[in-house]
Amino acid sequence: MTDAALQRASAGIIVGAGPAGRALASELLREGVAAVCVDPRAEAPWRTTWGLWDDEVTRHGLAGAVAARSEGPRVRFAHDHEVTLTRGYSVLDPERLRARLSAGLTLVRARATEVGIDEVRLDDGRVWRAPFVIDTRAPRATTCAQTAVGQVVRARGLPSYLMDFSLDFDDQDPRPTFGYLVPLDDERVLVEETALAASPPMEDALLRRRLAQRLRALGLEASVDARAPLEHVRIPLDVDARAIPGAATRFGVGGGAVHPATGYALARILDDAPGVARAIRRALDERRAPAQIALAAWRAQWSGSRRATRRLLEHGREVLLALDLEGLRSFFGAFFLLDPARQRAFLTSTSSPLEVAGAMASMWGELPWSLRARALLGGRAPRPLGARGRSARADLV
Ligand SMILES: Cc1cc2nc3c(=O)[nH]c(=O)nc-3n(C[C@H](O)[C@H](O)[C@H](O)COP(=O)(O)OP(=O)(O)OC[C@H]3O[C@@H](n4cnc5c(N)ncnc54)[C@H](O)[C@@H]3O)c2cc1C
Repeated sequence: MTDAALQRASAGIIVGAGPAGRALASELLREGVAAVCVDPRAEAPWRTTWGLWDDEVTRHGLAGAVAARSEGPRVRFAHDHEVTLTRGYSVLDPERLRARLSAGLTLVRARATEVGIDEVRLDDGRVWRAPFVIDTRAPRATTCAQTAVGQVVRARGLPSYLMDFSLDFDDQDPRPTFGYLVPLDDERVLVEETALAASPPMEDALLRRRLAQRLRALGLEASVDARAPLEHVRIPLDVDARAIPGAATRFGVGGGAVHPATGYALARILDDAPGVARAIRRALDERRAPAQIALAAWRAQWSGSRRATRRLLEHGREVLLALDLEGLRSFFGAFFLLDPARQRAFLTSTSSPLEVAGAMASMWGELPWSLRARALLGGRAPRPLGARGRSARADLV
């Protein structure tokens, strides 16, 4: 579509064409609502290695995008202590995911320099007005993040480890990290050194040193695929997801879709997109003003139940932030003793507060006494989640 056609069709604008922008645009298309995604990297290939649980792959019809799958991924706590999970885990081919989320979309290669509630200014000077604007840009800086550095190695037949805590590091730094090892296909494995949650975020230099130590310990040093670039992960865990009166509604990582304690976001984005699209379509049908459409799109992501779940998961993150390597070993040792349904409830940011609280209570019962007080008290107090500058209830009226 040309600019003029876009304006005539009074298409909504989605800033950003990552998974969130494209998933939402696809759902809007399904609802019969025209929307255009604006992104300076609109045509760039995707390189991120996304992992999803098998049930999430099935729920979102992504079987065709799976590059490698593990029937029973493992978690290792020490050389002689590991568990095999009963929930399958898949790694997606990023380009197949991109194709799957892009069918029929209108993508425009441009950078937004100003994003308003019904207007977007582009870096080439164009200003587009729209009945609604959704902002999916990732936040610039947050104080708490998951960071990781990954290297592709050529190896066959290695099992998947979602977490490997078995290594004691050469350095004197007490901050904990773990290994994440997932096959990408029959010949390549991604080995990543991950700081699950750290505030301030852990720096790359330490992650790279530890990754090198891990590759040595695994005997994989010589198998590094020198042509494959390092994967750098930085996922904000403390995005302020409150509605901002007068501003475009955020969606995706920038809207707080990340699970505060695990860093996973893709399933939540795909879960939320249909509801947000429906809310926008209904508000348009009712000829609502842009501010009301924005609020409807925010509410579709942040019902009272979702906000309560988020507060509980934030408490979980605060507990994790306070743990050293030994603490994480004990914590996850207890977590993976839980009934799989309880594990799933905690790992899913769309679980009900009751389900998450139930998982946390069971978890508390499994923890060693040394961690129980910490698990109850957490670290810093969680923030309220409501309209910025107002009470949590105020934005609901
Ligand atoms: C390396 C990595 C690995 C991850 N692995 C997993 C995983 O295994 N499982 C999982 O569930 N989650 C994972 N995540 C978390 C999450 O799923 C991803 O961050 C995901 O890409 C979020 O999608 P998004 O669309 O919200 O944000 P993004 O993918 O960051 O997309 C935002 C888009 O906005 C565009 N943009 C930025 N500025 C502008 C501007 N001014 N104007 C227009 N467009 C702009 C960007 O070019 C980008 O395309 C991972 C994250 C990273 C970084």
